Amino acid sequence: MEWREKRKEPPFYPPVNGGRDMHELYIAQSILSSVKKSLPENVATEAVTQVRVEVGQLDAVVSESLLFLFNAIKSESGMPAAELLVETIPVRCRCGACGHEFTLDLPVFLCPVCGSGDTVILQGRGIRLTGISANVDEDTEHGHTDHS
Ligand SMILES: [Zn+2]
Repeated sequence: MEWREKRKEPPFYPPVNGGRDMHELYIAQSILSSVKKSLPENVATEAVTQVRVEVGQLDAVVSESLLFLFNAIKSESGMPAAELLVETIPVRCRCGACGHEFTLDLPVFLCPVCGSGDTVILQGRGIRLTGISANVDEDTEHGHTDHS
């Protein structure tokens, strides 16, 4: 069974309240607890096979140790079979001078149209939960897997 998280959750990183001790272990824990909260009642945490997150290109370094830590703590979090799938999303910017929106290949934050350095990052930062997959046995005691 494929069950997909539909809600748009706030990103795990960077922290909204700007906490300085935010690190990869906390992000991994946040993802796992968010998955737990997101699961329907008839899906056990042990059944989760895949967890998908989006990681902004600017946080690609974070995602490496995140993978390692996720695998290190997934069993104690009740999800030994869960595989973390990280999708890197490109950096999108908007120029504050002319309003042009563009995707960055290199960390040079200049608008390609007018050359202004007054750019706002629209996308490409943060880690976001985008999907969860789980194996659901149709004949479990909890039973009612009437997904359509
Ligand atoms: Zn511009």
